Amino acid sequence: VSLDDLDLDRKSLLGAGSGGKVYKVVHRWTGRIYALKIIQEKHELDVRRQIMREMEILLRAKSPHLVECYGVFDRGGEVSFVLEFMDGGTLADVLKFHRTISERYLAEVTKQVLLGLLYLHKHKIVHRDIKPSNLLINRRQEVKIGDFGVSTVLAHTLAQCNSFVGTCAYMSPERFDPDGNGGEYGYAADIWSLGLTLLECAIGRFPCLQPGERPDWPTLMCAICLGDPPSPPPDASPEFRNFISCCLQKDAGRRPSAEMLLTHPFVKKSELQPCSVSTLLQGLVV
Ligand code: ATP
Ligand code: MG
Repeated sequence: VSLDDLDLDRKSLLGAGSGGKVYKVVHRWTGRIYALKIIQEKHELDVRRQIMREMEILLRAKSPHLVECYGVFDRGGEVSFVLEFMDGGTLADVLKFHRTISERYLAEVTKQVLLGLLYLHKHKIVHRDIKPSNLLINRRQEVKIGDFGVSTVLAHTLAQCNSFVGTCAYMSPERFDPDGNGGEYGYAADIWSLGLTLLECAIGRFPCLQPGERPDWPTLMCAICLGDPPSPPPDASPEFRNFISCCLQKDAGRRPSAEMLLTHPFVKKSELQPCSVSTLLQGLVV
């Protein structure tokens, strides 16, 4: 089905990130609902061409655990993406509403995100931007990795870390290393970000900084590269504690792959006691 962005009516603003705005839109002829992400800045032609070229590859990536991208448009320098609409919003919204998320839900979230990462990594794609606002939920119990493609492509072409502090906060230690293989860091970086995201959901605040500490670049770099990796609270289950410490090893080479983590007892436990993640959406207005 070919989609024309001119046939999309904007209904409401879903949110705004550092790069642009996301609207809920309805397709005039089919009545289908989508999320339209518009990258505000007008980039140079060559940057736009690069974005479009890389998106071509990513448009072909399809998995039930990735937010689908149906089309990319460039209208006079304004690049927009037509995305699958996730009616439960993001894990960041859920976290803000509930303050913390209990382990039984986190285990289910973990499993679904790992399946998304497994797909990406098998296709040689590193997401680079796993964080609560890029994990989306819907009322069909699905958790999906979003901004995939969009963020990967933007990171490739334009992201400057200082303008992406939100993203840098979830960066693994090896990515800060100027002498390291900065551009070449591998899949293990996504595993670090997943660990940090889950820990944030469990404790209700960003784990690497003390409450009140400013999340600026030098503070973050010191905390992530020089400090010990953050660890779960003492009342966390042994399975969760172990899962987090596997993900948050500073030596990237020691972090397990998405495939290995899918067999971790923390994830396996969720299969024994299934729970519906959409319960988290009760009372939440998106
Ligand atoms: P950053 O700029 O650091 O990436 P962000 O991830 O919050 O921050 P966006 O990716 O632009 O920024 O998303 C902004 C908001 O739009 C999200 O927080 C979410 O509420 C909403 N949103 C994004 N994609 C979708 C989608 N596919 N379905 C529903 N809502 C979405
Ligand atoms: Mg996002």
